[in-house]
Amino acid sequence: MNKFVYMFDQGRGDQRELLGGKGANLAEMTRIGLPVPFGFTISTEACNAYYEAGKAFSKEMEDQVLEALHNLEERTGKKLGDASNPLLVSVRSGAVHSMPGMMDTVLNLGMNDKTVEGMAKLTNNPRFAYDSYRRFIQMFSDVVLKVDGFYFEQLLEEVREEKGYESDPEMTAEDWKDVIKGYKEIVKKYTKGSFPEDPKEQLFLSISAVFDSWNNQRAVIYRRLQKIPGHLGTAVNIQSMVFGNMGDDSGTGVAFTRNPSTGEAKLYGEYLINAQGEDVVAGIRTPQPIVTLQNEMPEVYQQFVETCNLLEGHYQDMQDIEFTVERGQLFILQTRTGKRTAQAAIKIAVDLVEEQIISKKKALLRVDPDQLNQLLHRRIDESYERNALAKGLPASPGAATGQVVFDADDADRLAKEEKKVILVRPETTPDDIHGIVAAQATVTSRGGMTSHAAVVARGMGKACICGCESVSIDLKGKKFKVGETFVYEGDVITIDGSTGEIFIGEIPMIEPQLSDEFQLLLTWADEERKLGVRANADNPEDARKAVEFGAGGIGLCRTEHMFMDATRIPIVQEMILADSYEQREVALSKLLPMQQEDFEGIFEAMKGHPVTIRLLDPPLHEFLPDKEELLVEVTKLQMTNPESEELKEKEFLLRKVRQLDEFNPMLGHRGCRLGMSYPEIYVMQAKAIFYAIAKVIEKGTNVKPEIMIPLVGHVNELKEMRQLVIDAGKQIEQETGQKFDYIVGTMIEVPRAALTADQIAEEADFFSFGTNDLTQTTFGYSRDDAEGKFLQSYIENKVLPENPFTVLDQNGVGKLVETGVRLGRKTKPTLKTGICGEHGGEKQSIEFCHETGLDYVSCSPYRVPLARLAAAQAMIKHELKQSVNELQAQK
Ligand code: ADP
Ligand code: MG
Ligand code: MG
Repeated sequence: MNKFVYMFDQGRGDQRELLGGKGANLAEMTRIGLPVPFGFTISTEACNAYYEAGKAFSKEMEDQVLEALHNLEERTGKKLGDASNPLLVSVRSGAVHSMPGMMDTVLNLGMNDKTVEGMAKLTNNPRFAYDSYRRFIQMFSDVVLKVDGFYFEQLLEEVREEKGYESDPEMTAEDWKDVIKGYKEIVKKYTKGSFPEDPKEQLFLSISAVFDSWNNQRAVIYRRLQKIPGHLGTAVNIQSMVFGNMGDDSGTGVAFTRNPSTGEAKLYGEYLINAQGEDVVAGIRTPQPIVTLQNEMPEVYQQFVETCNLLEGHYQDMQDIEFTVERGQLFILQTRTGKRTAQAAIKIAVDLVEEQIISKKKALLRVDPDQLNQLLHRRIDESYERNALAKGLPASPGAATGQVVFDADDADRLAKEEKKVILVRPETTPDDIHGIVAAQATVTSRGGMTSHAAVVARGMGKACICGCESVSIDLKGKKFKVGETFVYEGDVITIDGSTGEIFIGEIPMIEPQLSDEFQLLLTWADEERKLGVRANADNPEDARKAVEFGAGGIGLCRTEHMFMDATRIPIVQEMILADSYEQREVALSKLLPMQQEDFEGIFEAMKGHPVTIRLLDPPLHEFLPDKEELLVEVTKLQMTNPESEELKEKEFLLRKVRQLDEFNPMLGHRGCRLGMSYPEIYVMQAKAIFYAIAKVIEKGTNVKPEIMIPLVGHVNELKEMRQLVIDAGKQIEQETGQKFDYIVGTMIEVPRAALTADQIAEEADFFSFGTNDLTQTTFGYSRDDAEGKFLQSYIENKVLPENPFTVLDQNGVGKLVETGVRLGRKTKPTLKTGICGEHGGEKQSIEFCHETGLDYVSCSPYRVPLARLAAAQAMIKHELKQSVNELQAQK
């Protein structure tokens, strides 16, 4: 027999895979004696069995559900469908990973024309009974029968208007009765059937709806975004209802045990009096901050605070807790590890260590390196004199500028055109998720800090303002109004999610800095990690940033960017166009001091840390004007001014461009192949480096240069280029009377280099894996063509698991890296190895580099903090794996 159903007192917190996150935590809270309404969980295995059976319940599963229901009826002393004492339940989805707002919940199930009367009598509160009934019809119809919620909203709106009410609590029992009648007509009209009155039918229809919702569009999108696999399935929780809508001594709310935005160790949440379930999150009414509960219901508040402390201690992490108060009695409906911003994640992790609740290693694993990007975002310049148009709730920090849009689809479309947009909505729903993803930031006029928009934005690290009630939005007219000011679609605004302020136009922003807690966490990371972290930096400014962010050196300094400078391009072109060696030498001698100056700046900024300088890599035509543009100009001149000097010059240039033109520049005359053809270019660069070293040493600064030859495929290429560098070094040593301490190495970025690494290592002091080119040459993709044409669909159709240019392809490209390291070290055991592709700043690839035994990773300066943390995590995870293996071996 398969066990598909578990009563809450049969499960445990560590059974997330089986019971889903919500089910496991409901079981755990029941186990530790918290006031959780009783119920049972239908497991994720049941979900998969349901799909395997072609979306159907087996007899076995059905029987188990009915047995559990019976058990629940015994425990509560109520009966589903009983007219005098009805059991009402909620049907709640709960996947293994929390997916806020992704799956649909049905409340008050078990209501029908008979049980509603029973409820009215039993509670002596007909208004409450009919309110609950209409909520049930509304939710059930939307989630299970798929009748658009809009029809119900519209009808409710009409009734409210007709009666002249401002909000729902003014509705009387009789009013709700009318609404219910109308609702049922809507159901008839759109489903061609009547609303199911049989509670058991309601129950099974809801369970299949939850299972089905696992594959609805927004769930699929969310899983893709968060990289959650689709085979896990969702569990379903059936739980007896408690009612926050029984009057002014009842209510419902959500709270975080610490501030999810800043991390401050203070209870943070919201509630609504006389409200049920989703009301707080849906943003229909703007809720009260949790502190006011202290005055309204002091005892409940006290008990709630104690429960929060208990739960946080129990789970050793910040919790996100749902509660309901029914006639002065507190019930806990959910707890989960709270989603948080990067800033909060760091503060909470560091605080928990200082409160001696978790170890430093645990703290390091608590912060997702990917999240850190958020902190390295720009923010509004403090010296700017703020003149805000409006102010709402600071729901998710960060500043953003963009054009106003009022629709998620518009946001998505404009973002694809590379426009920056800010999504402005009365409130958001899970159907707006693609718009929130696409926008720089989201603003809502309704809803609180725990509303859908706020939770989603924080999860993604995007700025968000909620409940900005002074903004009145006209969705049809595509504009909003604050006081007398109108803002139209397409107008630019700036928002500050840390203060909740909205400004007209663009506002000056400043570069980010690392907070004290962040620095502290990173020093803990440095204590753990074995992998070095360097930065890719091409100029002194980036080099300084790199040092500030804790880079231990420069892993890649590309020299072509030094050639691209506007004042230098003419000289570079002069060099390329030179007809003779002598002419080229003249141009090169003008470039030398310029390059030397750049190198001096970089060496000084790096204060003795190693600097890997790569000699010129791109093909020469990249420094010349575009062929087609030139052709147009030449043709024009031929017609308008055929005798001019200008035409002659342009024609000459065009000839040169055509000569250098290649069928396949990516695989063409570039890297060391260029150095082999024009050794004088590499000699000039080497000399510039050595002169710079001499200068900087004279000033008393230490220098550790590592000169790197790109795109080597055969050891002979490296041998020749290395000799060239060494000769230049000797010459400058003689000239300056100094001795230089430097090494010469190569990039491994074509498969042949990796496969013959043992030979290449004879001539190399170090290897740096250029995993960007290595990915191109291993797959045989040119990145620009691939990303522009087919890669996206490959990823969508799961031909490839990820973009291999973002996440290192461990099975293919990774095998070449492993081979390169192994063969290289066979020849030269002390060979230094690193990677310098974009992968050096990506956490999975960093873990791979650690496991492969590289000495360092190198990434953009802004990703250095991320890489330091990811490198520490790789070490800690490795140790954990080892100790698990040891334990198993002992067994
Ligand atoms: P989500 O996963 O979207 O948060 P939930 O299953 O937690 O959905 O439920 C939605 C809302 O309904 C929450 O506010 C929750 O507290 C409330 N709720 C769920 N079950 C019950 C219940 N048995 N009694 C009262 N409120 C409930
Ligand atoms: Mg919930
Ligand atoms: Mg390369």
